[in-house]
Amino acid sequence: MRNDIAATLRRLQTLLSGQHTLAFLPAICLGAYWLGGETTLMTTALGLPALLALTNIVSLSSMHVISTDGVTALPLRPAVIDAIDQTLDAQHATGRTTACITLAIDDFRGLEASFGTETAQDILRTTARRLADTLRDHDIVARLDGPRFAIALAPVRRADLETLIQLSSRIQAALSEPLSVDATKIYVTASIGFCLPARAPGQSGAAFLDAAEAALADARSNGAGSIRAFTPGAIQTTLDRGSILADVGDALENGEIVPWFQPQISTNTGAVSGMEALARWVHPEKGVTPPAEFLSAIEESGLIERLGEIILYHSFTALQTWDRAGFNVPTISVNFSATELSNPKLVDKIRWELDRFEFDPSRLTVEILENVIASSDNDTITRNIAALSQLGCGIDLDDFGTGHASIANIRRFAVKRIKIDKSYVSRCDVDRNQQDMLAAILTMAERINLQTLTEGVETVGEHAMLAQLGCDHVQGFSISKPLAFEKTLDWMDAHRQKLAQTPQIGRKAS
Ligand code: C2E
Ligand code: CA
Ligand code: CA
Repeated sequence: MRNDIAATLRRLQTLLSGQHTLAFLPAICLGAYWLGGETTLMTTALGLPALLALTNIVSLSSMHVISTDGVTALPLRPAVIDAIDQTLDAQHATGRTTACITLAIDDFRGLEASFGTETAQDILRTTARRLADTLRDHDIVARLDGPRFAIALAPVRRADLETLIQLSSRIQAALSEPLSVDATKIYVTASIGFCLPARAPGQSGAAFLDAAEAALADARSNGAGSIRAFTPGAIQTTLDRGSILADVGDALENGEIVPWFQPQISTNTGAVSGMEALARWVHPEKGVTPPAEFLSAIEESGLIERLGEIILYHSFTALQTWDRAGFNVPTISVNFSATELSNPKLVDKIRWELDRFEFDPSRLTVEILENVIASSDNDTITRNIAALSQLGCGIDLDDFGTGHASIANIRRFAVKRIKIDKSYVSRCDVDRNQQDMLAAILTMAERINLQTLTEGVETVGEHAMLAQLGCDHVQGFSISKPLAFEKTLDWMDAHRQKLAQTPQIGRKAS
């Protein structure tokens, strides 16, 4: 309704405004005099200019004089909706279309907690400025709530997936330049969701913005720095979250929850040194859902042990298939939660599975979160980990650097390798602080005879720096994203060929 009124006002404004209307004013007045005499002449001569002024004022106040955000001075949500409505209204005449982008600064609460409210507001202002610098003059940028922004593209001939992904990447690059606050550099990343005209659920500014926001929610649930386009299923997925709890048990038993595999490679040789099994819910209609969205439902339903059994079974089946196909995957890493590690029968179960597949225990690496061993005074957990280590399984301390484990704990739990958290990796090739932290961790590990693996390695530069600093193994998107089992064979084949052809990224000379 509001959009209809705005559209009518715009049409009236177009019809009545401009010099052409004023040029006809004398002729219109003369006509009025002939038709209705002096009274009509007076009414027209005074009334028409007043009407022109009025339509301009009304339209100005409804569409252009829009209240702004106190922190960034950007306009608010209605500005984006109106801009898209205007482009869509004129689309037939102009042949131009638009798209809506929404973005959110990742972990804004964490930034606010670490650096304070004032710095957080500086981050918002800098984001607003960088957006304006990156976009074209007529694109409209607005502040939504919290650390979220929305953009309406000024009319363009083409707004397709490729263009929008490129633009989103440009925005992310502009926002990723470090901010200097006192002597510290702050790194900010942003997640982005957008709605393409061809995919929009309705032809209105409000529909475009809603869809871009649903895509943004999807992107944020996928981890920092993600980009997602709206697909009609996305709103569905967001709305369906409540039913995950109800469906998760069936999904486990129907075989919809399976591990995907992410390669780990040796920085020394470039060869595959392991694979991490990461749970995925592969739904026939809704597609692939990451564990962040269903693990807590599995925990709540008391099904985490069942999940563990399924992941372990599929992981061993995969390992057996790689062995038979002649691919050398020395070990498979499986994530174990605190609940699973508290089960007194865990070691027997694992030993039984290893026997069934005739695997040496070294073929299994148990990943345990650093905060589990840091906070645990649970004797069963301590005993289980010690027994698995004694059996010959690898013990990796996951998310190392985030959970305050002491060296005493590392010893007590017979940890064999630390898995350095991805927060230490990002931009380590260009940021001296990151390099210093990594070097300190790696030196400590070397001194106490721990192997090292770094996760979240996203660029070739980061990979090279880690190799140079002496990290033993790396894992991350720059090597491969987690793969469905069917895709692992092709990936390993291609990797083997690449290794044979290219010189490797060398390690530091020791
Ligand atoms: P995690 O064990 O720390 O796993 C690493 C996560 O980082 C994975 O997310 C992986 O997809 C993601 N990742 C890998 N490389 C990169 C990269 O280069 N950049 C970025 N930004 N991310 C990268 P995923 O698969 O969503 O798993 C999330 C968490 O869920 C895991 O974190 C793990 O704690 C838990 N999880 C996954 N599978 C299982 C499982 O079978 N059992 C249990 N108990 N927990 C699991
Ligand atoms: Ca892990
Ligand atoms: Ca981890």
